[in-house]
Amino acid sequence: MIGDGMELTYDEMKQIPVFSSLKEAVSFVCGTDTIIEKKQPVHGGDANDAYKLFLSNGSILFLKANTLANADFFRAEAEGIAAIRSTGKVRVPIIYARGKDSGFSFLLMEYIDSGKLQPDFWEKLGVNLASMHSAATAQYLSTGKYGFYSNNYIGAGNQKNTPKNNWIEFFSECRLRPQFEQAEEYFDSAIIKAVDKLLNNLDRFLFEPKRPSLLHGDLWSGNFMSDEMGMPVLIDPAVYVGCNEADIAMTELFGGFARRFYDAYFDVMNMVPGYEERRDLYNLYHLTNHLNLFGSSYLPEVMRIIRWYT
Ligand code: ADP
Repeated sequence: MIGDGMELTYDEMKQIPVFSSLKEAVSFVCGTDTIIEKKQPVHGGDANDAYKLFLSNGSILFLKANTLANADFFRAEAEGIAAIRSTGKVRVPIIYARGKDSGFSFLLMEYIDSGKLQPDFWEKLGVNLASMHSAATAQYLSTGKYGFYSNNYIGAGNQKNTPKNNWIEFFSECRLRPQFEQAEEYFDSAIIKAVDKLLNNLDRFLFEPKRPSLLHGDLWSGNFMSDEMGMPVLIDPAVYVGCNEADIAMTELFGGFARRFYDAYFDVMNMVPGYEERRDLYNLYHLTNHLNLFGSSYLPEVMRIIRWYT
């Protein structure tokens, strides 16, 4: 629950026990003689396999699994969840353990038993996110104002978080440029020229925020859920410190957030005029990442946005 372990600093909170077998991890979390009795697949994610685990002591846990080569996904996810948790503003699942077993890597966490959305679910999600975006951020970086102390992943793609003092420089060098470089095989010379022009002119469209915010980083409708009380929980983040608008823009990319969410959010956070004109530029990062991960069906939308801004 929010509040559990809140006496810990972020540095302490992100120290998740690491095991060399799932059996050891389960014993550590639930007691020595506890074994997994049933493993039920959970669908809905895009980068990992997920399971609801039924244990011999009656507990239920949530397990994410991937290949050994992708074990670092779970280091990053655990650190991101810990960062959100350390704000104390939004519920996230408790992370119990991570590790490698024979042939797979894993992340073991609290199972959230989703209930029917409470009537004020959307308002709570908006207000909680605004509070998270208003929390102090210095503990997530050793230097600079934007970024994160470690790199992480956006879906299955690499996400670079090298700290910068300037948001526009961060968005250019750690977000758009690496995605554009990876997408070069899809771009003709006219688009490559346009991309260069866009990267050189970002300050015509973006602004330096009054204060940096801890962002979820991958806030689409598949990455929040309701808890047993029907209240909001955030899952599967790609956290970094950035401009709050980048999170809000992503909520609009694939839809699924109610109007009441935005009303509640912008009751707390000022909407800086011109947000609608910046939204697609922020989402260009995610769309180009999708182009790189899932292929050319995302190319027309990526090109449309690049052309619009150049
Ligand atoms: P991926 O990393 O593969 O995208 P997700 O973290 O999005 O996977 O999880 C996949 C699905 O599992 C989610 O859509 C959600 O329905 C469910 N889920 C995620 N975390 C939990 C949890 N802690 N407890 C119960 N169900 C969860």
